Amino acid sequence: MSSSNGDRALDRITALAAILFDAPMSGIVVNGRYASVQGAPIAAPQVTDVSIDHQPMTLAPYAHCRVYVPITRTDGSHLGTLYVADTQARRVSEKQLHGLANLAEMAQTELQVRGVTKAAPHLLFVMDAATRELTWLSDDRIELNLDDDDSICAALETLNHEDARAGLDVQVGHRWLRLGLRVTYCDPAGRPTEITGVLHDITESKATEARLAAQRDQLAQLVTTDELTQVSNKRGLNQRLQLLCAEAERGRRFAVAMVDIDFFKKVNDTHGHSTGDAVLKAVADTLQQSVRKTDFVARFGGEEFCVIFTDVDGPTALALAERLRAAVAGCTTSPVRVTASFGLSMCAGRNVITQVQLLESADQALYRAKRSGRNRVAMARRIMPAGTKSGRAVAA
Ligand code: GH3
Ligand code: MG
Ligand code: MG
Repeated sequence: MSSSNGDRALDRITALAAILFDAPMSGIVVNGRYASVQGAPIAAPQVTDVSIDHQPMTLAPYAHCRVYVPITRTDGSHLGTLYVADTQARRVSEKQLHGLANLAEMAQTELQVRGVTKAAPHLLFVMDAATRELTWLSDDRIELNLDDDDSICAALETLNHEDARAGLDVQVGHRWLRLGLRVTYCDPAGRPTEITGVLHDITESKATEARLAAQRDQLAQLVTTDELTQVSNKRGLNQRLQLLCAEAERGRRFAVAMVDIDFFKKVNDTHGHSTGDAVLKAVADTLQQSVRKTDFVARFGGEEFCVIFTDVDGPTALALAERLRAAVAGCTTSPVRVTASFGLSMCAGRNVITQVQLLESADQALYRAKRSGRNRVAMARRIMPAGTKSGRAVAA
C-alpha cells in the first residue's frame, strides 16, 4: 500500500484503517481534498456529502463498499472524513466500525493540534538528539542546519540533562529567530534522546532594537560633541578621563595637554566673532589631524582645548605636544594665523592622580607657558624628566 503524500501522522492513521478493514484503500479528506490516502482512490459517492450528525455507518455493504466516519471538532463542527473503501462487496463488523471511530478521534486530535500550532506565533519541531533530524510540528518550516551552526551546536551540547534548556538568537536568511531548545526525553543513562525546539520570529523586534541602539549612539554622540568644532565637548572629555584614570590605576599611562589659543580676544576684536569661530574650527581640525588615532581631542570651553595622549611616557608626550604646537602655529587653513600655549601633565606610575588634580596641574603648567612667553609647551614640574631640554618646552 502506498501513501500519496508526506503527512506522516495522518498516513499512520489511514494505514491503520486500511489494515483494520483489510481494505485496498483508505483516506482522510479535509476541506474536500485528500489530506492522506492509502492505495489507489476508488470511485465512490462524494465523501463531502456526509452529514456531520451521522454515526459510523456502512454504505452499500454488500456491493461496492465504503465505510466512513466524520471527523469533528470538539465543538461538533465538521473537520473532515476518515474512510475505507473496497471494490468488492463485504461485511463490516461492529468492532471494525468502533476501531474506525477511534482512528477518526485520533485524526481529530492531530488536526486540532495543528490548528493550534498554526495559530500560535511560534514554530515547533522535535529533534532526534542522535541524528539531529527535525520533525516539524508546525506547518511552516525553516531550513535550520543544526549541525553547521556553531552557536546552535554549542547550545545543543549544553542540553545534557533532562531539565536543561537553552535559548539563542539565530539568523536564517533575512529573518532573526529566537530558538528555544528543551530536552523532552532522555535514555536510561540520562542522555537526551529527543529535544523540542521552539522558534519565535523576532525579526521585527531585532530591527527595532537596532534602530533604538543607533538612535542611542547618535544621541550619545550629540551630547558629547561640540557643535562648533565637532570635536568632543567637556562631557565627552570627562567620560574619557574617568575611564583612563581607572585604567591608570591598573598601570595604563597617559598625558593630558591643556591648549589655549594665544591672544584670541584680539582675533575677535580685530576680525569679528565669526572669524574667531572659523579660527577655533581650524585649530580644532589641526589638533585632530595631528594626533594619533588613539589620542583624544576635546574643546574644553571658549578657546581652550584638551588633548589626551594615551600610552606615552613623559618625553613622548612632550614631543607630541610640541608637534601639536608647531602644527597650530603653522596652520594654513585658519583665516588668521594664531599660536597656542600648552600645559602638559601625566597620569602614570607613581604619578597616578585624580581627574581634577590632573586637569589642575595641566592648567598650572599652561599658565606658566603663557607667563614665559606663549606659543610653547610647559610640563608640570613633578613629571619633568631629569635633564629634559626642549626648544620651547619649559619646566615651570
Ligand atoms: P591669552 O593668550 O592670555 O589666552 O589671551 P586670550 O585673548 O586668548 O584670552 P582671553 O581669556 O582674554 O580671551 C578669550 C576669548 O575667547 C574671549 C572670548 O570672547 C573668546 N571666545 C570664547 N569662546 C568663543 C567662541 O565660541 N567663539 C569666539 N569667536 N570667541 C570665543
Ligand atoms: Mg583662555
Ligand atoms: Mg587664550
